[in-house]
Amino acid sequence: LDLYGDSRKNSRGIEFGWSAERRALIDGISKASFPLETARPMVPGVASSGAETVVLSPMDGKTEVGKVVWADSEMAAKAMAVASKGFETWSRRPVEDRAAALDKLGDLLEEHSDRLMAVLCMEGGKTLQDGIAEVREAVDFCRYYAAEARGLFGGGRLMPGPTGEENRYRYRGRGVFVCISPWNFPLAIFLGQISAALVAGNAVVAKPAEQTPLIAHETAKLMFQAGIPEDAFLLVPGDGSVGAALTQDPRVAGVAFTGSTETAWAINQTLAQKRGPIVPLIAETGGMNAMLVDATALPEQVCDDVMMSAFRSAGQRCSALRLLFVQNDVADSLLKMLEGAAGELELDDPRLPSTDLGPVIDRDARDNIMTHIEKMRASQKLRFAGKTPEGALSGGSWVAPHIVELDKPEALEREVFGPVLHVVRYDSKKIDGVLDAIAATGYGLTLGVHSRIDATVKKVVDRLSVGNVYVNRNTIGAVVGTQPFGGSGLSGTGFKAGGPLYLTRFALEQVVSINT
Ligand code: GLU
Repeated sequence: LDLYGDSRKNSRGIEFGWSAERRALIDGISKASFPLETARPMVPGVASSGAETVVLSPMDGKTEVGKVVWADSEMAAKAMAVASKGFETWSRRPVEDRAAALDKLGDLLEEHSDRLMAVLCMEGGKTLQDGIAEVREAVDFCRYYAAEARGLFGGGRLMPGPTGEENRYRYRGRGVFVCISPWNFPLAIFLGQISAALVAGNAVVAKPAEQTPLIAHETAKLMFQAGIPEDAFLLVPGDGSVGAALTQDPRVAGVAFTGSTETAWAINQTLAQKRGPIVPLIAETGGMNAMLVDATALPEQVCDDVMMSAFRSAGQRCSALRLLFVQNDVADSLLKMLEGAAGELELDDPRLPSTDLGPVIDRDARDNIMTHIEKMRASQKLRFAGKTPEGALSGGSWVAPHIVELDKPEALEREVFGPVLHVVRYDSKKIDGVLDAIAATGYGLTLGVHSRIDATVKKVVDRLSVGNVYVNRNTIGAVVGTQPFGGSGLSGTGFKAGGPLYLTRFALEQVVSINT
């Protein structure tokens, strides 16, 4: 089925299971040399001064990945000024120019994928498999939004009207978009926001997460090589104060944000207090994602899917499984399987093909997750605690997989962004109570159901307003253009990333009526 009329296909990626491809990848990754070139604000005409901060790998807490010169709020204001001018030219370019730049960028990302994965592993603690998936997703975002933009931003749509009048409905860019991206997908989400904003005709000022400025810098260089003008895309690595300066700026025409719900509230408030144009906030935030497993589910499949959903990327995905509800009758046997499988997971150098979990992003994250685990150890039943690496890697920010059995779902009070799975038993007669508990979290990002009973699946899916529902499979790794991703409630505003409406949020509508 050729939905786009251009045979767009998602990136093939790298076939990790094929030894030749795996070997080539490992070889390519080993050629990347560190420390990388220093990341700094990329604002044309403005020299960045200031101290260089060393970025250490979370893998061991001592390997230098590179250095960064941070932007401050003054630099943020300068970037907004340059971008406002850049917007005038970029937005007037034919959509084909902008889409072609994204297609070219997709090709460049594929060409440089080994190097990008090496940076993702070293700076972000990503495993090879995560790195492969992330580069592929970034490529897919570029090509998907390019294809979508060609349809949406071309000549516009003729609307029906009376003879002698031509009514043309079209989309155009809004102005300067501020894109604030997270460290957990420092390439894919970083580029997903930016590519959508750019191809829709906006200029972009991007603030990558503080923990991952180097992959952003490497990607920005490829963006310029792909033909994106330096005054249409500006990079300002910085902390929250830079993000705040950008969102407070009177020139902001929209904000795309992925991160915590608390920060999304703060941005929303900042935008609401401005006396000026009312601008959109596109926020993708957290989740208290649940999975329901009843007695008809296939236990081996459940076990695989739970491992993947809860522990892949060390649980540092918004989509990750946090609360597993298991029907009483199968709870003991399933818990045993899960504990056994969790014990097989390997924590090691993220660049090794056998590694299942890398480190968590930094020491603050580790401390935060460990505090939660200690609390669970004291108040709930800790069923499994894995081991962290010793020796050369012992200085890294490691958290081993943990499985906790809760006496009630409310015992998990907040989203814990790490490899901790919480399990709750339920009685099949009280399934409504389970659904109420999930709804009561206020989040609505991902949901898993493992059941062979259609009526149960239907009941769960219909009852809960969750953005991405997965039946009899894992709950992570939404595919661009296939599983548009994003939630509602405390999980975000929509529209879904990698979906057909996403670009429209970055655009203004215009109707031109001509008396012919
Ligand atoms: N899209 C990712 C997935 O489906 C999650 C994105 C996120 O963590 O923000 O796993």
